[in-house]
Amino acid sequence: MNRIGQRLVNGIEGEKFPFTFKVVNDPSINAFALPGGPMYVHTGLIAAADSEAQIAGVLGHEMGHVMLRHGTNQASKANLIQIPAMIAAGLFERGGMMGQLAQMGIGLGANSVLLKFSRTAENDADLFGARLAHKAGYNPVELARFFEKLEADGGRSGRMQEFFASHPNPGNRIQNIQGDMKFYPQKPYEAAALTPELVKARAIIKTLPALGKKPAQGQVQAPPGPPVSITVPNGFKAHQTSIYAIAYPGDWTVRPAQDGVSASIIAADGAVKGGSGQEDIGHGIMISFVQPQTTDINAATEEILKGITQGNPNLKISGSPQGVRIDNYVGRVTPMQGPSSMRPSERENVLVLTVMHSRGMFYGVFIAPESRWRVAEPEYQQMMQTLRFSR
Ligand SMILES: [Zn+2]
Repeated sequence: MNRIGQRLVNGIEGEKFPFTFKVVNDPSINAFALPGGPMYVHTGLIAAADSEAQIAGVLGHEMGHVMLRHGTNQASKANLIQIPAMIAAGLFERGGMMGQLAQMGIGLGANSVLLKFSRTAENDADLFGARLAHKAGYNPVELARFFEKLEADGGRSGRMQEFFASHPNPGNRIQNIQGDMKFYPQKPYEAAALTPELVKARAIIKTLPALGKKPAQGQVQAPPGPPVSITVPNGFKAHQTSIYAIAYPGDWTVRPAQDGVSASIIAADGAVKGGSGQEDIGHGIMISFVQPQTTDINAATEEILKGITQGNPNLKISGSPQGVRIDNYVGRVTPMQGPSSMRPSERENVLVLTVMHSRGMFYGVFIAPESRWRVAEPEYQQMMQTLRFSR
């Protein structure tokens, strides 16, 4: 995947996204790119491809969505903030990404994580992918042939529902690409055949263990046990899980996720509808608990911040991480700033709290518009100090 991906990246002119290419052990035929450049290819797609050119076509198409910034206005901020934690924990590579997203989904449009593209965006991504394929020496028509083959197969097996739900067929893919190719300088393309490497990849895929129903390593589930106890200040309520507990203002609403750990806690009027119908948090907090690949608080915090800024180019780190101690655990609080999703004319402030615990990393994102910050900031500091963890 890396080799094919890099061949395509080499053809990009101008600004290059930090594209990364990873394989997900999942038999469904799917590939997706997250805003900012992380790309994932399901093993099911590799097994279904007849040539490298077909895989290159799909990668080029997905890169087109990223380069043309099709997703950025559309993904809910909640997802863009939560996904980096999952990437940092390596959750996607361990497979079952959709299930994990659903589990961690905090009731804020978990279904909208996979961006839904318009037919126009599909056509643009096709042509972008075709040009990259051409530059890399792959026959661009293979992109369209693969999509058409998949649609024919997928309709029967249902293994492609996710993909075509987010990438609707723009129609006449082959003609559109052939029409565009008239403008390309002529050059010979690599024969679109099964290469020894692709044969080997398919063989390896066959030996991979089937996806279990168990949560992947990295995803923290609420362990059995009593809820963590907590002191609740006047006018506050408690949100208690078996790993952590936090107090929140009495008129706010908790939306727990299926995993029993992640949650969003939203101010009375803090949930807002985004431009494309997705729900976002304008005033409130989002909590996740993940197992990062490092136990170093600075490295894990940096990883997550990098992910957040990559996926949300408008959200900027506005100060250096400050060391905090919460319930005797080491943590960091990092301030960020971006446009408010609640008040279009305003900025919003964000505090990202990361705390290293023996079960993983607590990750809380505290959001409020600037005009409320005078009240919200001390409230957030107070909420952070109420946090208690299991031992
Ligand atoms: Zn697409």
